[in-house]
Amino acid sequence: MVMASVIRKLDETVVNRIAAGEVIQRPANALKEMIENCLDAKATSIQVTVKSGGLKLLQIQDNGTGIRKEDMDIVCERFTTSKLREFEDLNSIATYGFRGEALASISHVAHVTITTRTLDAKCAYKGGYLDGKLKAPVKPCAGNKGTQISVEDLFYNVATRRKALKSPGEEHGKIVEVVSRYAIHNAGVAFTLKKQGESTADVRTPQNATIVDNIRTVFGPSVARELIEVKHENTKLSFKLDGQISNANYSVKKCIFLLFINHRLVDSSSIRKAVETVYATYLPKNMHPFLYFSLEISPNNVDVNVHPTKHEVHFLHEEAIIEDIQKCVEQKLLGSNASRTYFTQALLPGAPVSISDIQKDTSESAASSSNKDKVYAHQMVRTDDKIQKLDAFLHKVPQDSVVMDTSVNRTEEKMDTSSGGQDGEASGRAEQSSSSTESRKRPLESTSEDQSPSTSSSTPSSSKTGTPHYRDIKLTSILKLQQEIEDNMHEGLRELFKHHTFVGCVNAEHAVIQHQTKLYLVNTIKLSQELFHQLALFDFGNFGIMRLSNAAPIYELAILALESEESGWSESDGPKEQLAQYVVELLQSKAEMLEDYFSLEIDKSGQLCTLPLLLDNFIPALDGLPMFVLRLATEVDWEDERGCFSTLAKECCRFYGIHKNLRLVDKKEDVNKSMDNEDKDTSMPDYDWRWTIEHVIYPALKAQFLPPKAFAENASVLQVANLPDLYKVFERC
Ligand code: ADP
Ligand code: MG
Repeated sequence: MVMASVIRKLDETVVNRIAAGEVIQRPANALKEMIENCLDAKATSIQVTVKSGGLKLLQIQDNGTGIRKEDMDIVCERFTTSKLREFEDLNSIATYGFRGEALASISHVAHVTITTRTLDAKCAYKGGYLDGKLKAPVKPCAGNKGTQISVEDLFYNVATRRKALKSPGEEHGKIVEVVSRYAIHNAGVAFTLKKQGESTADVRTPQNATIVDNIRTVFGPSVARELIEVKHENTKLSFKLDGQISNANYSVKKCIFLLFINHRLVDSSSIRKAVETVYATYLPKNMHPFLYFSLEISPNNVDVNVHPTKHEVHFLHEEAIIEDIQKCVEQKLLGSNASRTYFTQALLPGAPVSISDIQKDTSESAASSSNKDKVYAHQMVRTDDKIQKLDAFLHKVPQDSVVMDTSVNRTEEKMDTSSGGQDGEASGRAEQSSSSTESRKRPLESTSEDQSPSTSSSTPSSSKTGTPHYRDIKLTSILKLQQEIEDNMHEGLRELFKHHTFVGCVNAEHAVIQHQTKLYLVNTIKLSQELFHQLALFDFGNFGIMRLSNAAPIYELAILALESEESGWSESDGPKEQLAQYVVELLQSKAEMLEDYFSLEIDKSGQLCTLPLLLDNFIPALDGLPMFVLRLATEVDWEDERGCFSTLAKECCRFYGIHKNLRLVDKKEDVNKSMDNEDKDTSMPDYDWRWTIEHVIYPALKAQFLPPKAFAENASVLQVANLPDLYKVFERC
């Protein structure tokens, strides 16, 4: 016979330990609570040090108010808080914590030491805690103003919890995620996260940075450049939204979603899904945006108690608020991606653009958008792209033979070198490799966890700054070269490129773009060269990879180059074979660096296997490859670090930039031509440069180009028509 079991009241420490497990599920949860405590204590600097993903040590130091000595013996007990007195206070609570549960919970599952000093105290005090209680009376000690809390051996007494955790590496990834998100949201507070004993920080944001600065630091410049600010307030639903969201030029494989509700990092799958549906019409299939939202909802309407970890949040009027957010995002995306506007006109003799012209234009546009009824007819631009596009005047052939998609998820492009680069014509062609495995450099695809709460504890996490592939390059030489480009940027031209509309290619060298009521003739060659120069420096160390379908022997490439007129080889330079051998040896000796930083792989037998992918969907004209290889050996400054990177970038612009002799001719004509061309393989589709210039080069110029000041004067950009002036001409007729 089975006896009924006896019901016993659980021992209090057991109860507390169970409760602790609910609040603190992993090191990152504990850290989040402690960061919030620092912020509640008005800290402006928060430094986190961890060991073994926070399992061995989780230490947080702030410069906040500190804890009074007389409170130190109860600070780790359950339901002790300095933030709440009565139940009614719950409705208007403005601090993060209020339940007095975090420190108590942590002290039940780890060894906690607190060292703290208030502003008026003569010294700091230190105490060790176990199961919510002080182990021994607090002791005076030296210390700065603020609080340091060390949590050691987390879950030492909860074997099941410890087993359920991922590897220290993955726990560290979660910690990086929490710290970097709080760092972004709390502009004005400096954050540092370090592994114990390491000198470089995994996250570091300065105190005086803006939110966008912080996003740039954490997620990289490619996303920071594409952000749109969102500001919205709805008094009826009593909520306020501030945010930064990516525009239609940017996308990642997994949505990066940073949500703060009343300054607490939370998750809401309903908000994320709703916003993602808005993006679906703007982004390539299966691609997602970057979203940072700070939502302030009247505390009366948020139920923060919904879950012990307070992660997935629900609030009153959720549907109405979400709908309002959707509308707001939609409007922003529409505005940033203004429908294509065209107008065409026989080219007038161009006058150089003056800097003031462009600046005036942009200030005008700001004024006119704020004052809508001031747009006169002569300032209006047509928006019917069907009639007005320049391409309509050319014989257009469907783009069937060019298989290019605009998504960024494709990483390795296979190039066919079998066509050799011998002939003077461009003959690069691309094949998509669907089995590509290496991820493109774009940062932080992996930091966004699959936001569904049930799986959040099992999502894979990542290493440094949450990115397995994006490396933060801190070489001073590179940073300086980048800084020079930034300092030399022409604001007006940046504005022009940022908001331009592509009208059409005149030839390989020139294209026409429109900005507001003006039409410009721009030099694609100069622009593309500078673009690749910048890409080479800004994405340094993080390029994607183009793999040659057949590895190309460097020796033969060098011979080919030396045989061309361009190389300027003469007898006095010595035998070509000897020079070619020198090229092979030199490049092989640099192979490790070239592969690591430059995605250029040379195998043991001296064959070139990969080239850096500087821009998605862009493959340089391969006839330039022999010269590129020769010049890597002869023109790059291999002596000095900065000189080396700078000359490498210059060689990239030469090779990757658009060339004058690239054919933009129509495919139909193309076929006819190649028929008279005896050595041409007609079955091979030609690389469509016109398509590439319009769909790859110009969007990149729009998205991330920092035009140098010289471009306003050297005829790279020429204004050829101005709508108001044309009106004047017609009025006289
Ligand atoms: P809660 O934040 O909900 O009040 P906690 O257990 O997180 O509960 O913290 C308990 C109390 O300890 C807080 O109310 C606060 O007074 C004090 N405290 C914790 N961390 C800090 C800190 N970094 N600086 C100053 N006071 C702190
Ligand atoms: Mg707290």
